Order: sequence, then structure tokens, then C-alpha cells
Amino acid sequence: MKKALPIIILLAIANFLNAQTNPKDTEVWEPEPRVVDPGTSANPPSDAIVLFNGNDLEEWELVYGKGEAKWEIEGNIMTVVPGNGDIKTKRKFGDIQLHLEWRTPVEIEGEGQGRGNSGVFLQMRYEVQILDSYQNRTYSNGQAGAIYKQHIPLVNACKAPGEWQTYDIIFISPRFNKDGIRVSPGRLTVLQNGILIQNYSEIKGTVEFIGQPKNIAHGNDSIKLQDHGNPVSFRNIWVREL
Ligand code: MG
Repeated sequence: MKKALPIIILLAIANFLNAQTNPKDTEVWEPEPRVVDPGTSANPPSDAIVLFNGNDLEEWELVYGKGEAKWEIEGNIMTVVPGNGDIKTKRKFGDIQLHLEWRTPVEIEGEGQGRGNSGVFLQMRYEVQILDSYQNRTYSNGQAGAIYKQHIPLVNACKAPGEWQTYDIIFISPRFNKDGIRVSPGRLTVLQNGILIQNYSEIKGTVEFIGQPKNIAHGNDSIKLQDHGNPVSFRNIWVREL
């Protein structure tokens, strides 16, 4: 018996080594990812929900008060009409991939937070700042691509005013338990003009102009675009639910 043990061990080792030499053992074939047509820069992926493609504001409504969103549409572009107010999607979303294109006015007016200010709010609460941050200094955690007053963008990837810019946003919503306690934070990853500016940044809570972020339990909610008094334009807005 005493001599048998090493042989058994040797056989086990040989078996183990043999198992690790077959590449097929580590191939996974199921499930197979479904096919999505990636589209082109002007055409969304085949499984996207189109939120704005230039035709109408059917997917949008006013945030404050009831009624239709009345931002100006011209060509395939919609533009904030200052004073019309914020607009939000009629649909509510959880985790999403969001694509949108935005442009700040070519006529430079104002400075700092007053120049080309808008914003995209995930679930109505978490703002990725839109601002003309091209040679326009403001506080770093409030410039374009900031998660407003929570995370400074990794770099300033802004194009000049009047040029179209893209945001590709991956949003993971925060999770709350049945007692209303947040058990995992939301996350935001953002590419601006193809450049990573937020890398899985932890959302601290609601975006606040004054004071600390709050974490009151909520479910899926709308995407909001901000009327901050500047005629910022948008086009090609689509979303993929994750
Ligand atoms: Mg803003």
C-alpha cells in the first residue's frame, strides 16, 4: 500500500496535465450572442430604441408641467428654446447604453457655466454635464463630461463651439434593497468624441447644485435633457437597454 500511493498521485498528475492539453475543454459555445447590425454613424444599431432622429419629439415630454416638448426641430436637429424647460423621455430606463450628439452655439456668449450649458441626466438624477468647455474655464467637476460636482472628466476632449460632439454613455443604475437602502452604487462610463472621459465612475447619489448627493430609493426613470438657457443642439439620440 505504501508504494501504491505515489503511483496514484503520478496518474492523477498525468490525468490533470492531459486534461489541460486539450483546448476544446475550455471552449464555451452556448449561449451564442445574438447578432446586432452595428449601423453607421448616422444609423443606430439594429436593436436600439431611437429617441430622436430628426422627425419629431414623440419620445419626449416636458419635465415641468404637462404638455409636449417644444424644442425647435430643424433638419435632423433639435435645439433648446431657452425658457421652454427641460425635456424627458416618456420611456423609463434602467441600465443602458446611450448615444447622443450635441453642439454648443457657434456664437460665443457668456462664460464658465453660462456658455453652452445643457446636460444629460440619467434616471432624471445623474447628470453628465454638457458645456462649451473649449477654452472656457470653469470648475473642473462642472466642465463638459463631468458627473456634475462628483467626478472630473479624465481629459478635456471638447471640440470647438459649433462642431458636433458625441457622448457614448454606459450607465449602470444604483440598486436599492426593499428597505430603501442603496446596496450598490450607480456607475457611469463615458466616451466623448471616442475618448474615455469617465471610467466606470461611481455615482455618489443625486446631482446637487448645492449640498451633498442624496440616495433615496427609486426605480427606472426617464432620460432628461436640460434647458440651461443656452440654445444647445442635439441629434442622433438612441439607447440600448442592457
Ligand atoms: Mg448642465
